[in-house]
Amino acid sequence: MPRHESETHAAFRATVRRFVEREVSPFVTAWDEAGAFPVELYGQAAAIGLLGVGFPERVGGVEGDGRMAMIVTEELARAGSGGLCAGLMSHSIALPPLVAAESETLDERVVRPVLAGEAIAALAVTEPGGGSDVASLRTSARRDGDSYIVDGEKTFITSGMRADWLTVAVRTGEAGMAGISLLAVPGDSPGLSRSPLDKMGWWCSDTAHLRFDGVRVSADLIVGVENGGFLGLMENFSGERLSLAMLAIAFAEVCWQDAVEWARDRQTFGRPLIHRQVIRHKLVEMASRIRSVRAWLERLVDEIDAGETPIADVCMVKNAATACLDFCASEAVQILGGMGYMRGTRVERIFRETKVLSIGGGSTEVLADLAARQLGL
Ligand SMILES: Cc1cc2nc3c(=O)[nH]c(=O)nc-3n(C[C@H](O)[C@H](O)[C@H](O)COP(=O)(O)OP(=O)(O)OC[C@H]3O[C@@H](n4cnc5c(N)ncnc54)[C@H](O)[C@@H]3O)c2cc1C
Repeated sequence: MPRHESETHAAFRATVRRFVEREVSPFVTAWDEAGAFPVELYGQAAAIGLLGVGFPERVGGVEGDGRMAMIVTEELARAGSGGLCAGLMSHSIALPPLVAAESETLDERVVRPVLAGEAIAALAVTEPGGGSDVASLRTSARRDGDSYIVDGEKTFITSGMRADWLTVAVRTGEAGMAGISLLAVPGDSPGLSRSPLDKMGWWCSDTAHLRFDGVRVSADLIVGVENGGFLGLMENFSGERLSLAMLAIAFAEVCWQDAVEWARDRQTFGRPLIHRQVIRHKLVEMASRIRSVRAWLERLVDEIDAGETPIADVCMVKNAATACLDFCASEAVQILGGMGYMRGTRVERIFRETKVLSIGGGSTEVLADLAARQLGL
């Protein structure tokens, strides 16, 4: 049992591990090659409480501390597919602002069905004109009687093709952050068209370009108050950054494990690879980087559970975790040699999925900038 884990944590970890071993790992390479995983997986994941972790019981969630979220990430990561994690868990970035709004309409129509695995949710913030500068987004929502009329485009949206609900960031007011709202938009709305995007990695998650042409959305599907969406989005980003840091470290750990296993088995020049000092030092360097970032991450998880908001640290730990993954994935592929370059090995898939983690949820450069401001530099 890892340090700091209670019996509840350990039991939950065992449940998720079993689920991943039986329902995910044996199929994940085929799903990645096919470009999709079955929608039934949402229901199966919900049945063991995996989708509800961190959400309140009032909406069917499983209240738990940050360690529970870490367990979900670490155990899902053992399948070695970021696409699976991003697609299956897209609700983890789509739902938090809806839950915070404490609206019966949103709870009953959107949140409950999604946490029960009966519907899929996605978050749509990024636009073709830019993703980092959220305050400049242009997709508009104009009030018309009991509805809003939405016009604009969103791009790179995870689960965007099959989402039943889209949490869409829209401009309802003045330029800048004070004119932004969030709307829960039904995926089957007339005037909404979606097209799939091909990408470097994360193949089994769908990624979509969305077009809104006069999409009418009932006004009771606004999330919180009109023009008050930016703060909720920023809080959401902080959670997403922490999750991406967890994912990066979990994948770095998978790379380390696969590299160690390979180095033990592989014989070169009459001896196992792991007897070579150059290989041993690579493995020690990987483990050192993983352990230091993981310790930092665990400390932050505890601080956040205690009610603190360590914004600069969350930015910095995400950057440290993705840099650690870049290093570990590259070294793992190198240690596996030609086999590390072959489709279907975990390290090959993880290697080609590294980049998205330092772009999504706030890029390395943008997070460094935010951390600098938070540190008063
Ligand atoms: C596979 C995938 C899935 C995604 N899923 C979602 C999703 O579900 N929902 C969603 O809303 N978005 C999603 N995104 C979008 C993602 O969040 C954006 O790609 C990201 O925020 C960066 O925005 P951008 O691509 O427009 O790059 P830009 O903002 O145009 O930035 C381009 C480059 O310039 C750098 N840069 C920008 N500003 C500065 C600055 N001030 N100083 C220095 N450097 C700067 C950036 O770091 C980056 O390297 C996804 C992206 C990918 C690739």
